[in-house]
Amino acid sequence: MVFSDKERKERRRKYWIEYYKKNKKKVSEKNRKYRIANPEKEREKQRKWAKKNPEKIRERKRRYRATEKGRETNRIYTEKWRKKNPERWRELVRKSYFKNHEKNLEKQRKSYQDDPERHRAYARKSSRKSRQNPAWVRKNNEYNRKRYHENPEKERERGKIYRKKNPEKTRIRHRKYYESESGRENINKWRADNPETIKAYGRKYRKKNPRATTEITQKYRRSHRKCEWSSCDRDSAEVNHILPQFKYPEYIDGDYHGRIGNNLICYCLLHHYAWHYGHATNRNNPKHKKLLSFMWNKVKRWANDNKIPISALEIELKTMFAGIGAKNS
Ligand SMILES: [Zn+2]
Repeated sequence: MVFSDKERKERRRKYWIEYYKKNKKKVSEKNRKYRIANPEKEREKQRKWAKKNPEKIRERKRRYRATEKGRETNRIYTEKWRKKNPERWRELVRKSYFKNHEKNLEKQRKSYQDDPERHRAYARKSSRKSRQNPAWVRKNNEYNRKRYHENPEKERERGKIYRKKNPEKTRIRHRKYYESESGRENINKWRADNPETIKAYGRKYRKKNPRATTEITQKYRRSHRKCEWSSCDRDSAEVNHILPQFKYPEYIDGDYHGRIGNNLICYCLLHHYAWHYGHATNRNNPKHKKLLSFMWNKVKRWANDNKIPISALEIELKTMFAGIGAKNS
C-alpha cells in the first residue's frame, strides 16, 4: 500500500492524537523539560504566537490585571516606567489633564470642598519641599514680584486685609525683617533719607501719647536718683506712672488724692520694663503689651552701652517672675 504525502501526514496526526490522549502526563512532562532545555527556542515560539494573536494577548493581560496580583504587578511596572521616562510621562499627564480640563477642575473643586484640611496640608508640605531649593525660591520671588507690579493697588489692598487678619504673623515677619541685615540696612537708609517724615511721626506719636518726660516728671527724677524698685541700686532712668496714664489721664502730672508726686516712681530701665511686663503678662493687658518690644529695645541698648550681658538681665527677669505665671519669658 502506497500513501500519498498528504495521507501520510494525516495518519501521523491521528496516531499522535491517540498517543497524546493516552499519555497526557508523559507528554506534558516531556514538553516541560524541552522548554527548560531550550529557553531561546521557547521564547521565539511565544513571540511568534503573540504576534499572530494580539487580541488574545490583550485579553489575557486584561484578565490578569483584574486580579489582585496583576494590579500590583502593573503598579510596579508603571512606576518603573515613569521613572525611566519622566518627560514622556509628564507630557501624558498634561495631555490627559487638558483633555478633560473642565471636568478636572470640577473634580478638584469638589475634592477641595470635601476635605480642605488635607489639601492645605499637602500644599504646605509641597511648598516646604520646594523652599529648600534656592533656585525655586528665586524664581518664585521673581514671579511674585512681577505679579505684584502688574496690579500694585489691588495687591496693596490685599496686603492690608491680610495684615489686619493676621496681626501676630505680621509682627513676627516684621521683627525678622528688622533684625535681618538687609532689613536694618534698608531701614537705616530710609531714616537717613527721610528726617522730616520721622520728625512728623514723633510729633504725631507724642500728641497721641502725652509723654512721661514732662517738666513735672523731670523734676521728680532729679530728686530720685536711684531706682525705687526694692533692693535695686542702679541709677534711675525713667519715671513711671503708677496709675497708668492711658487709664488715668487725670493723674498724669503725678498728683493723686491731693498728694504731690505720689503717682510717680523712678525705675532703672530694666525695672521699668519689668513693671510693664508684669502688667502685660499677669494681667494680660494689651496696652502694656504694646509697649514691651519698644522698652526691651531700650534695655538692650542700655545693656550694650554699659557692657552688661543681656543674658544676665534675662535671668534677672526670669527670677523676678518665677512662679508668677509669666507667659512670655
Ligand atoms: Zn531697678
